[in-house]
Amino acid sequence: MKIVFVSAEVVPYSKTGGLGDVSSAIPKAMEQLGHNVTIFTPLYKSIDVEKHNVKLVKKDLLAPIGDKVEVVFDLYETTHPDSEISVYFIKNSYLYREGIYVGEDGEDYPDSPIRFISFMKSIFTSLELLEAPVDIFHVNDWHSGLLPFFLKTEYGEHNLFKNAKSVFTIHNIGYQGVYGFETIEDANIPEIYLNDDLLGFHGLINFMKAGIVYTDVLTTVSSKYAEEIQTKQFGYGLEKIIKTRKDDLYGIVHGIDLAVWNPKTDELIPKNYDSRSLKGKEECKNYLQDKLNLDVSDKPLLGIITRLATQKGLDLILKKFTKIMDLGVQFVLLGTGDPKLEKSFKNKEKKYPQDCSINIEFDNRLAHQIEAGSDFFLMPSKYEPCGLNQLYSMLYGAVPIVRKTGGLADTVQDYNEETGEGSGFVFERINADKFFEAVERAVNLYKQDKAKFTKLQKSIMNKDFSWKNAAKQWQKVYLKAKLRKIKNII
Ligand code: ADP
Repeated sequence: MKIVFVSAEVVPYSKTGGLGDVSSAIPKAMEQLGHNVTIFTPLYKSIDVEKHNVKLVKKDLLAPIGDKVEVVFDLYETTHPDSEISVYFIKNSYLYREGIYVGEDGEDYPDSPIRFISFMKSIFTSLELLEAPVDIFHVNDWHSGLLPFFLKTEYGEHNLFKNAKSVFTIHNIGYQGVYGFETIEDANIPEIYLNDDLLGFHGLINFMKAGIVYTDVLTTVSSKYAEEIQTKQFGYGLEKIIKTRKDDLYGIVHGIDLAVWNPKTDELIPKNYDSRSLKGKEECKNYLQDKLNLDVSDKPLLGIITRLATQKGLDLILKKFTKIMDLGVQFVLLGTGDPKLEKSFKNKEKKYPQDCSINIEFDNRLAHQIEAGSDFFLMPSKYEPCGLNQLYSMLYGAVPIVRKTGGLADTVQDYNEETGEGSGFVFERINADKFFEAVERAVNLYKQDKAKFTKLQKSIMNKDFSWKNAAKQWQKVYLKAKLRKIKNII
């Protein structure tokens, strides 16, 4: 199949979270199954075009935003590492900015709707230029949520796209792209679509809802999250709309791109290791402690790498911070986001200079080093669509401590000290005491029975994290979409 993969962030060019990682890994996995995949993503100022060998294809192309407005853009291309996938970059004055989603003030760009519409429309123009027919558009999250709509309406009869189908993946329903209709005035979308049955939701344009309504097949990133988003607690208002598409909804858990995340070969960590011997991991721990000016000691080291957002359940950690440190542990955090959370964590650091390191920055190298140097990895998320860090941490032998939600529920089973079964420490309710109990159980195992702890570490490192399984499921989903009869929505 000819697959066009569309995403606002793609590793190694741009990343704010898991979307960047999987927008690189899914296309690679599909190419390995023999499909013809191209990726489209915006060119941001932060992308190092020289390093990634990004070359101009054509200047001054025109993307029709509405019938009266066109946006001029330049098309760039490179080849994705370890593959033959062409990655196309759209550069225009809306997209070419430092931040991916937010400006320097940390606020959403006010022109985000037209910004991402310009991205989607430029993709169609580029494909016309390349004369590239398409079987599947795989679009991701709200930023490309309107693409299935354009595909069924404006481009529905187009020679190159008339047989194309769309797959829309919800990576996080907490971010929907909701704006007043006036923000998309330039797009000149006919009045008949701008109502709550189609593109609108409570009188506003909702990009994610548009994707859910117009896509041929809908997916999300774990089976549990596929169930959760049909409920009031997790659906963020879209639960009823999702239920209307439940027969077309699939939950597929991510794998790990082993070319990027793998303690055996990782070039960003000081010593490579695997489950046969954890000596290298110990070196990584000591290196991390030294690098972050912590005591180089045998205390259990709890790591966390995260967007500092309410979703991640960080308040549970803050509430129990003193009690956790009193267990005699070290704590290392890497994250950026909500300024209040940044400040709260930074304040905690002062009291424990030898045992606590709070790093408010985005640093991919340090992220790899924390995975390698930690004994435990914390993810007390309120909701977690899939989560990648718990997978990375298992592979790196950092035992995950997680709440039972979304992808965390699908991928981490609670450890049973009697049988030795399980892959982490799991708590169920969003409750600080329950979270602390899980941390305490974990730390006790480390301190009281190191042999059992090491056995647990080794067993989680040996799990199958490859994309093979997920790739086969994606292939089925693409086929389902391809074989779908065209159903006109309006
Ligand atoms: P989400 O997509 O909700 O942010 P995931 O667990 O799916 O959460 O993915 C997070 C990804 O982003 C991981 O690869 C993680 O290492 C990375 N990450 C998050 N914050 C940082 C940071 N401050 N520095 C480096 N990498 C980060």
